[in-house]
Amino acid sequence: MNACTFNFIEYEEMVNNYVNEKCSKPASGEKLAGLFDKIIQSETLKVSSYFDFKGMQLVHACIKKIIACKPGRKLFKRLLQSGEKIFIRPSPLPESRFRHTKIKSKVFHHEIYLANNPETYYVTHNSHGNKTLHKQDPACTLFHELTHSLHYCENPKHKNKRVKEGLIDPEMDNLEEQHAISGITKDEQGMDVFDPICENTFHKILGMPLRVNHRGLALQPNEKLGIDPQ
Ligand SMILES: [Zn+2]
Repeated sequence: MNACTFNFIEYEEMVNNYVNEKCSKPASGEKLAGLFDKIIQSETLKVSSYFDFKGMQLVHACIKKIIACKPGRKLFKRLLQSGEKIFIRPSPLPESRFRHTKIKSKVFHHEIYLANNPETYYVTHNSHGNKTLHKQDPACTLFHELTHSLHYCENPKHKNKRVKEGLIDPEMDNLEEQHAISGITKDEQGMDVFDPICENTFHKILGMPLRVNHRGLALQPNEKLGIDPQ
């Protein structure tokens, strides 16, 4: 699969089929409340006390939205199993980001900086197949950053961020971003495989269009960019 041969319509059908077949059964409220408490009280996920009340409420709402779907529950369960520590902090910038930093010879530190910016957009296709912008749900942003955490928690030395060849679109930037966004990554033989724990599965579950590249926008108030977001 590469930029020339990648068929977006087939890909969208695959994501659709996965969601319809595997994600239609809702979990009980009791089960979700139990998992939420386990996540919040765990040593794995540390939500910074520097969030203000509204920010903290938003983080909690995002976690609840993520665990309401099956890939989201799998994501958190695997993070909890990893025993690693992930810090979620308020971002001083309008963008959210993930950092994987080595602080001692073998100890890695995972940080997610979550921006409270309601004007965040991602790139999708409109009905004519042209690229257009769509407003990003903050829960999708957190989902995206948590998938980076998962990849590094389970395989701290993986090099996908440096892989820029064989991407489905050069604007995915690297294999790690392509994996987090589309779920398409490489197996040990270098063949393309689909990992349903990705941002696009979550977009589909929420009834949003799929993201097609790593481009996005965090708009400043009153910023004029000559674009027409949906
Ligand atoms: Zn990313």
